[in-house]
Amino acid sequence: MSYQALYRVWRPQRFDEIVGQSIITRTLKNALITKQTSHAYLFTGPRGTGKTSAAKIFAKAVNCHYLKDGEPCNQCVTCKAINEGSLNDVIEIDAASNNGVEEIRDIRDKAKYAPTQADYKVYIIDEVHMLSTGAFNALLKTLEEPPANVIFILATTEPHKIPATIISRTQKFDFKRIKPQDILERMAYILDQKEVEYDDKALKLIAKAAEGGMRDALSILDQAMSYGDNKITYENALLVTGSVTNELLTTYMQQVINKDTKSALITIQKILDEGKDASRFIEDLTSYCQDILLYQQDPGIVEEMELGIIDDQFKTLSGQISDQKIYQMINELNDISNSLRFTAHPDVYLEVLTVKITHLDPTDQSNQASMPQPKRAVSAASTPEVNAEIQELTQQVAKLKAEVDELRQGSTAQPTPISTPEPAKASESHSMDNHIELAKIYPILGKATRKQLNQFKSVWPDLMDALSVPQRSVMHVSSPVAASAGGVIVAFQYAFLYQKAQADTDLKDALENNLDRIVGKAPQIVFVPENQWPDIRREYLTSHKDQLKKTGSQTKETTDPKADAADDDSEETPQPETDSQPVVKKAAELFGTDILDIKDD
Ligand SMILES: [Zn+2]
Repeated sequence: MSYQALYRVWRPQRFDEIVGQSIITRTLKNALITKQTSHAYLFTGPRGTGKTSAAKIFAKAVNCHYLKDGEPCNQCVTCKAINEGSLNDVIEIDAASNNGVEEIRDIRDKAKYAPTQADYKVYIIDEVHMLSTGAFNALLKTLEEPPANVIFILATTEPHKIPATIISRTQKFDFKRIKPQDILERMAYILDQKEVEYDDKALKLIAKAAEGGMRDALSILDQAMSYGDNKITYENALLVTGSVTNELLTTYMQQVINKDTKSALITIQKILDEGKDASRFIEDLTSYCQDILLYQQDPGIVEEMELGIIDDQFKTLSGQISDQKIYQMINELNDISNSLRFTAHPDVYLEVLTVKITHLDPTDQSNQASMPQPKRAVSAASTPEVNAEIQELTQQVAKLKAEVDELRQGSTAQPTPISTPEPAKASESHSMDNHIELAKIYPILGKATRKQLNQFKSVWPDLMDALSVPQRSVMHVSSPVAASAGGVIVAFQYAFLYQKAQADTDLKDALENNLDRIVGKAPQIVFVPENQWPDIRREYLTSHKDQLKKTGSQTKETTDPKADAADDDSEETPQPETDSQPVVKKAAELFGTDILDIKDD
């Protein structure tokens, strides 16, 4: 018999076997027991969290005549046919490959006919966000006049792409990322059943690397099993996940905190010699830094979310390093990870990084002084040895920088001049990252008013209170910077938190839902990194100058001047006389007077 992937063999067949979604499965079972099922469901959540499994189990349960405590029997003809995928009345559609109107119209026509073999016809539409607008409209018509004995289960990883009209016709369930501990227990159960030996540490590593998805966890487990002879070892798990050991990370961090550049450089060399991937090291280190930040905020969060990282050394480290320094480190790591994508010489970048972060000065908020600062260091410890060391390191940095420049010039494959590890250049760089959603930002800026912005600012604390603790930890350095009636732009002080927020669709949903509750509307929310915000505004004002000149004189009437004055204490500052005065005025209305550095060219 050919080998079957673990996630197929161990796909849950009962609600109780779905890991980490007990609230959802209990609610569904209760609905089945009390016969209060809905005709349309929307299952949302990250991949591998059990949406499709739950949909299939539901399809069985609603049709099984031997239902017990809301669970299908998995023994009767109907259950078996559904498990084999041979029951005509349970129809699975992958919208990613069937996004046309015709397919959905076809569903609409066929849905009218009664089920042939089972009590209910169940349509499971996976990746439903991929449907075209026309297909959504056709689906909406069906949902508005639901045929008897037909149930739709829509599943998606991207609920923000589903029209509100569809969402309002469904009962919505948000599947959460599965906790590492739950993933670990499931993996251990499966391995016990298969009589495969395993190292606890190996499972912890895999559980963490799976990032909340059971399917990913089982795929990694499959790979680790193929390496080892019926045994899951820590070494194989490290190999498959490409992770750097916690010991090495802790050692490296300790050396960074001690400003022990030489030892830290040796550790980097050791990591690279072991064949570790430089990008993976940066990812692991970033995640380690985030764990420290979270741990400093609330040890409980990390204990709940992470596995195995909290040893005595981790606790000691957390007490030794300031959050400012961690934020600076994360910024540096972020810059490096961008550069690493385009280099064939990652070791040089890691060495430059090491020299830089062992010299970070946490008292400097601007993060400009990541290079060694002789004067400050001297005042801290003015001895000849320290001076000599600083001089040596300064030379070292200069040498490494020259090497990097040389490499960069030699490499023509480099597609864009993105930020370099050199701090001065990085901060001067005006090139905007291509992931900034200008197409969403410009329409908001076009209709932005101070009044709207003030409204969002005033409810922001309430909005933060409504979020979960991990979500709040991502959002706590964010603030609204511009707003119109239909949208709000939110800037993040730290690029890594911006990226985290950007990747988190649950977070955007939570923000929109809570705003809807608090202010009675759900505006579009767009995230930007704070350091790019001045450039975004400047480019917007430059590219819309003519338009703004025309409308500039009118907009004053539509905004509330009192709201301006209340929020902006620099209102009285005399404004520079330029021929683009209406633009300046409009800009001041949108953003306040702090951006009157518009170049009129
Ligand atoms: Zn059955």
